Amino acid sequence: MLTTIKTENAYELALENFDTAADALGLDNDTREMIKYPERVLTVTVPVRMDDGHIHRFEAYRVQHSSVRGPGKGGIRYHPQVTLDEVKALATWMTWKCAVVNIPFGGAKGGITCDPKHMSQGELERMTRRYTSAILPLIGPDQDIPAPDVYTNPQTMAWIMDTYSMTKGYPIPGVVTGKPISLGGSLGRNEATGRGVFNTVQCACEHLHLPLDGAAVVVQGFGNAGSIAAQLLHEAGARVIAVSDSTGCVYNRNGLNIPELMHMKALCGHVEGFPESEAIDAAQMLALRCDILVPAALENMVHAENASAVRAKIVAEAANGPLTPAADRILENNGVFIIPDILCNAGGVTVSYFEWVQDEQHLFWDAQDVYARLERVMKTAFRDVLKIHMEKKVPMRTAANMLGIGRVAEAVRLRGIYP
Ligand code: NAD
Repeated sequence: MLTTIKTENAYELALENFDTAADALGLDNDTREMIKYPERVLTVTVPVRMDDGHIHRFEAYRVQHSSVRGPGKGGIRYHPQVTLDEVKALATWMTWKCAVVNIPFGGAKGGITCDPKHMSQGELERMTRRYTSAILPLIGPDQDIPAPDVYTNPQTMAWIMDTYSMTKGYPIPGVVTGKPISLGGSLGRNEATGRGVFNTVQCACEHLHLPLDGAAVVVQGFGNAGSIAAQLLHEAGARVIAVSDSTGCVYNRNGLNIPELMHMKALCGHVEGFPESEAIDAAQMLALRCDILVPAALENMVHAENASAVRAKIVAEAANGPLTPAADRILENNGVFIIPDILCNAGGVTVSYFEWVQDEQHLFWDAQDVYARLERVMKTAFRDVLKIHMEKKVPMRTAANMLGIGRVAEAVRLRGIYP
């Protein structure tokens, strides 16, 4: 690990953010009680026969935070640091995120505490299929629809779709999103999160009268979300001056050649050693003077001890929860414009929604159609959040939470409660 990840509890942070927004909305206690906590929390044991013949027991989770506005929706994460509280936090954010972009889903999330980098494809497949069986009663196209997250991908989704479909006896592509195109995936899903990040950065630059052409960008985490955002920013004329992944950080003050860096990452699996770049450490990277910082790795990467070093004008949260509340306050005080995660990275779930709609209709759209619809959704959501930010004079994060929580609160009020 390159950056010290502070061990602040992500779920406590999610609850703290909820309270701040609920206070600003003036939400009554009854409504808070109904929408604040997860509806269902499942912990499962996943026994897997490893390649050397022994059986390893993995602990895994699926959390459904809310089904008030529709079926649960949220990714599945494979990582050594997955904990139940992290999954609960991520499920909570999914609820507000789906509401911010106004798609008819609730929030859910899953995870397995494992080290996928040290597992073979066979071990990953057996673990995924066993995990799917274990969470089977909870998932389904009308109940809860998983998707990829950190260290899971279209292949993982194909295994889940197959395992689920085998128990029903017919193919059910709508049980997961982020599938390969040949199995009912949507064109544009793979790039969706990065593309949504790009759309919100465009809006923020317009709002701040900051030209994107020539803007200096730093991207922490060069995976799916980070690399696509970097690519689109590069194509729009921005200079991506530094990029990192879990192996190292590379820097070139004139701008890195992002297409070539993506090519190298795809071939070698790391950014370290990229030609025409110098290696810097994670702390130096975070402190680079730039216009736009895109944290696109894991949560809590910017915290009380390193936040004051940040010299970006815009922080675009591609990752979920990359800033602790303490970091948030420091950046706010320093006048940094934050595009909060539940807005910034909502492109992924938006195109997941498009994928689910296409699967349910058995009618598929072309990529340009997907991009145009995504851009409309992201720019509308940005405008809605910005309006609250300006009118109520609250930070962008509070404004996004107010929009999402407000919509869920309204839905729960209208539905009432089953006696
Ligand atoms: P990914 O696995 O494709 O990429 C993660 C990247 O972060 C990798 O390049 C990894 O090397 C890097 N990384 C890990 N630890 C690091 C560290 N300490 N310092 C620097 N880099 C580090 O995952 P992803 O799908 O791009 O997800 C990244 C973040 O975006 C997560 O917070 C995820 O929840 C969020 N997100 C992803 C999507 C999506 O559709 N992929 C949607 C919404 C939110």
